[in-house]
Amino acid sequence: MKRILVLGGGASGIVAAISAAEHAAADTEVILLEQNAKLGKKLLATGNGRCNLDNLHCSTDHYFTSSRETAAEMLEYIAQVNLPQWFAAHGLLCREADEGRLYPYSNQAADVVNLLTYRLKQTGVQIYTDCRVTNINRNHSVYIINTADGAEFYGDAVICAMGGNAGPQFGSEGFGIRAAFRANCLMEPLYPCLVPLKCNPVQVQGLSGIRVKAEAALYDGDTHLHTENGEIQFTDYGLSGIAIMQLSGWLGPQYNLNCPNIRLNLFPHYTAAALTDLLFSRVQQMPGASVADYMVGLVHPQAGLAVWQAQQLGDSNRTADSVTREEWDLFAHGLQNWTFTDLADIGWKHAQTTGGGIALQQLESHSFQLKDSPGLYFTGETADCTGYCGGYNLHWAFGSGILAGKHAAETLKNI
Ligand SMILES: Cc1cc2nc3c(=O)[nH]c(=O)nc-3n(C[C@H](O)[C@H](O)[C@H](O)COP(=O)(O)OP(=O)(O)OC[C@H]3O[C@@H](n4cnc5c(N)ncnc54)[C@H](O)[C@@H]3O)c2cc1C
Repeated sequence: MKRILVLGGGASGIVAAISAAEHAAADTEVILLEQNAKLGKKLLATGNGRCNLDNLHCSTDHYFTSSRETAAEMLEYIAQVNLPQWFAAHGLLCREADEGRLYPYSNQAADVVNLLTYRLKQTGVQIYTDCRVTNINRNHSVYIINTADGAEFYGDAVICAMGGNAGPQFGSEGFGIRAAFRANCLMEPLYPCLVPLKCNPVQVQGLSGIRVKAEAALYDGDTHLHTENGEIQFTDYGLSGIAIMQLSGWLGPQYNLNCPNIRLNLFPHYTAAALTDLLFSRVQQMPGASVADYMVGLVHPQAGLAVWQAQQLGDSNRTADSVTREEWDLFAHGLQNWTFTDLADIGWKHAQTTGGGIALQQLESHSFQLKDSPGLYFTGETADCTGYCGGYNLHWAFGSGILAGKHAAETLKNI
């Protein structure tokens, strides 16, 4: 009997096992090992419990990687899988939301996990949960997997789908990537990605809990790198919200930033001059109002006052009509360039994905098999390709898993 071992029962491992079982010859069995008590723990938390499982408009522009050309090739192969069709063929009805984001029609991540678990059983995959992989070795063409409870599994092919370092509370803690390291793979340095950011605490003092809509631009010094739009959430340590998490990928070591800073534009639809005009003319509407009162109806008052102070415009109890046009100009500049410095991620626990990982050139683009290591595959978050929010990460995890599973099964048919 031949055997394919799939390590890790998350997004990538589950579909890898299904795909392997569907393409395997009758003399091949597929075994899935997962350290948690249940499969798909992280999948259940995706998309706020709704599981944004794909995006219909994926391109390399939606990913952080040090190997853009290889990522493009791999994404081409993943596109051929046609995930919406794959899910439809496996019984999952989906619907498209804004900007190509695909969700299960029921809007329930649990349905995705339950349906895929049903498919695992239906295709005869043997599932071992509470089974923590501790070692991967190779003796000639046979892979030997050790687990924490002392068991040993032998396989002709091994698909490592044990995720990265992000979200250790869901079970992933980088074993897959460490295993690759031991297999002498070239690794890109790891960093938490899609993660809220700390900043200089003085800059967010008293703002925790407030939310503003803004254009958020990341700069290195004065060099503009990337802009996102969305709701910014202030916390006691810094900034959060999807726009900030998207920008966090740009803090990866490959960009080598010296002086990263985020500038919020609270009035992106105004030119600088138009905003000064608006501020100046608005004084007439608010006779006798203090600067603090003047903010009401214009901008979140706490945010407005924080900008006022950041621009060192003095006492906010003075009356708005005592503010000169030059001072309104300075305030307008602050509202469009509210700056946050000393940026740093807040750590793996709050990261949605892992930046870095196995350098993509080490893997065959069509199969995710490690070059020069027949039968050894690395999929999903183990590899150096992490996406923005919007379904891009599950696109990668599912797509790579399906390709690896199919390739492992078909290769064994010829041995
Ligand atoms: C809160 C949250 C929300 C997210 N929302 C979305 C979203 O809506 N859309 C999107 O595209 N992406 C989303 N992501 C990212 C996405 O979930 C991941 O990119 C994806 O799950 C990676 O899949 P994976 O299979 O490579 O790794 P994982 O899903 O992390 O699976 C790895 C599995 O391997 C198991 N494992 C690890 N080590 C061992 C070991 N030693 N032995 C046995 N088993 C082991 C783990 O327990 C885990 O089950 C979200 C992430 C988080 C944290």
